[in-house]
Amino acid sequence: MWWKEPVTTLKGVGVKKAAELAALNIFSVGDLLEFYPRQGAYLDYAKLKTIKELDVDNSKQIFKATVYQVKNGYGASRRSYTSVTVRDETGYATLYFFGGQRYKAQKLKPDTVLQITGRVRQGRTTKSVSEVDVQPLEQDEGKTPGIVPVYALSGNLTQKNLRTWISEALRLAAEDLPESLPAKVVSQCNLPDRYTALKNIHFPESWEALRRAKQRFVFEELFLLQCGLLYYRQQSHDNREGIKHAADGALVKDVMQGLPFELTAAQQQAWREISLDMQDKKPMHRILQGDVGSGKTVISALALAKAVENGYQGCIMVPTEILAAQHFETLEQYLQPYGVRIALLTGGMRAKARRELLLNLELGLVDVVVGTHALLEEDVRFANLSLTVTDEQHRFGVEQRARLSNKSANAPDVLVMTATPIPRTLALTVYGDLDISVMKGRPPQRKPVRTLCYTDERRREVYAGLVRQVQAGRQAYVVCPLIEESDVLAVHSAQRVYEELKRDFLQDIPCALLHGRLKGAEKDAIMSSFAAGELKVLVSTTVIEVGVNVPNATLMVIENAERFGLAQLHQLRGRVGRGSEQSYCVLLTAADSPEALARLNVLHESEDGFYLAEKDMEQRGAGQLFGLKQHGLPDLRIADIMRDVDVIAQVRQLAQAQLRTPEDWAEIRRLVEMQFGERFNMIFNT
Ligand code: ADP
Ligand code: MG
Repeated sequence: MWWKEPVTTLKGVGVKKAAELAALNIFSVGDLLEFYPRQGAYLDYAKLKTIKELDVDNSKQIFKATVYQVKNGYGASRRSYTSVTVRDETGYATLYFFGGQRYKAQKLKPDTVLQITGRVRQGRTTKSVSEVDVQPLEQDEGKTPGIVPVYALSGNLTQKNLRTWISEALRLAAEDLPESLPAKVVSQCNLPDRYTALKNIHFPESWEALRRAKQRFVFEELFLLQCGLLYYRQQSHDNREGIKHAADGALVKDVMQGLPFELTAAQQQAWREISLDMQDKKPMHRILQGDVGSGKTVISALALAKAVENGYQGCIMVPTEILAAQHFETLEQYLQPYGVRIALLTGGMRAKARRELLLNLELGLVDVVVGTHALLEEDVRFANLSLTVTDEQHRFGVEQRARLSNKSANAPDVLVMTATPIPRTLALTVYGDLDISVMKGRPPQRKPVRTLCYTDERRREVYAGLVRQVQAGRQAYVVCPLIEESDVLAVHSAQRVYEELKRDFLQDIPCALLHGRLKGAEKDAIMSSFAAGELKVLVSTTVIEVGVNVPNATLMVIENAERFGLAQLHQLRGRVGRGSEQSYCVLLTAADSPEALARLNVLHESEDGFYLAEKDMEQRGAGQLFGLKQHGLPDLRIADIMRDVDVIAQVRQLAQAQLRTPEDWAEIRRLVEMQFGERFNMIFNT
């Protein structure tokens, strides 16, 4: 098929050009056709003005002119700039470049024809243009009217190269091009067919045709991603019979009534959803997304109780030994008074105790087991497992969850819990194979954490405050972004902060340094002794971000807070405010720009992790969002998860409605593989 042939099969593409295309990730003719122009950068020659026609109202305009001369100079406040005078048949204009832009301007050669955008005002002698963007135009450009694509380039490639080769590839496509969406979806959603869309995204007949083409490709990408996720779900779960639990019985009610608090509205809602799922024959696949401190553990206790009262076993897997120990303690309090037999399984257990526990599990003499990865071992077997819970799920891969769920002859109900707040739209994509329950906010009795933001000058003051907290019997965390000293960045590494604190403030106070390079057992030992209150201050890198609960810790100091995203800062802050005392989170920052401070101030204003995650995404893009990388979301070519919110909701419904018969599934599998190729396995097996 021509689509898969190397680009060198096209006329004019030799080995050298092919290498330059490879730098853009273009290898085959198909890759070339899917190399969409830079959106928002098409040229419309019908709209190009002459210099004389330019308005001088400081509005953004676009025109074509030739470079006349390039000069350097100093502005009013001795700010250096580069000016480029350009001309056409109707007059002269001067373009002004500052800062990093100057370099590009200095390289412009006289007589180069440019397409120029910028804000135009009347200068002293000529029209002056600021906020300039220039594109060199090639010889014959601008002579033919119409909308012309602009591509991102590499090496010595020219716009003309790409336009020529893509036209050539489009000629092949005209004769034979497979559709990449099910035909009924194309017609139902009134999308342009694939060839028309490809043609118009590269060489639009009109702005409207371009809009429709782009809409189709955004739709296509998101639809197939969604289908892939559904496909994965169907593949990995549907072979075994599910387990039907009865409506909430005596044990669930007892556990609920025994709680020292009332469930919040959010918890009740989440419990209803989970409870109904468990009562369904279809296996549950649900993610409980709860903000830090929203009270997820008690929900897992109810679900485990429900499994047990139906005569089954349940298990809960967590990423670290210390968390396992904590959950075990908590769940024991909730469940044991009503006769539930609960046990803890960790990697560090003695062989004899382990053997005994495994035997009891297999005989059904243990109802609930709490554990780490140790649960995944081959020899851990259950008598009749009906529920698996995974806490802090981003620490486990899909494959690990599957291994746990395979420990039952039937398909157990699967509940995964995460404290990574991801905006709903994004969650629909990332967790496309899971139903979602969300718990926002925190239980009412719990005081909000007071968040303060200071510049570095006040560090010693903050440390003095830390000493006072410790003297009052509380504990504190100090978190630093990096472990290694870096001269360039001058980041306070955990090591340096630790030494400084020890020397100047905490001479007689037990404290420890915790970082990712320590062995698992060392980390656990430090965490346990902090949890036990023996260590008063924990200086650490971000390894503490996951789930530990030390109610006596009331102060969280975060060094170089400007280096963290809002969502991650919020996650860190969630480590305090877990007891009855007022807690504080102090953000120290080396940045003193108003923007940096304003950004951090958002944390002072909000304790809503979902809101903060959304802000984070606005500020830094979805790719930077904390916790997202672990989910293996593929890079999208043209869709944008923030912008295309509505499309995501639409494709999710459509994808579900489409996939009915085995033939549907087979077709979708083919289309998903065509779209994501090699990435397919990577996406679905993370
Ligand atoms: P997370 O969702 O971060 O895992 P936890 O389950 O550890 O949160 O709960 C945080 C704290 O809130 C615990 O100390 C728990 O006892 C308490 N808690 C949970 N639900 C409620 C509630 N409805 N009312 C009051 N306190 C609650
Ligand atoms: Mg938790």
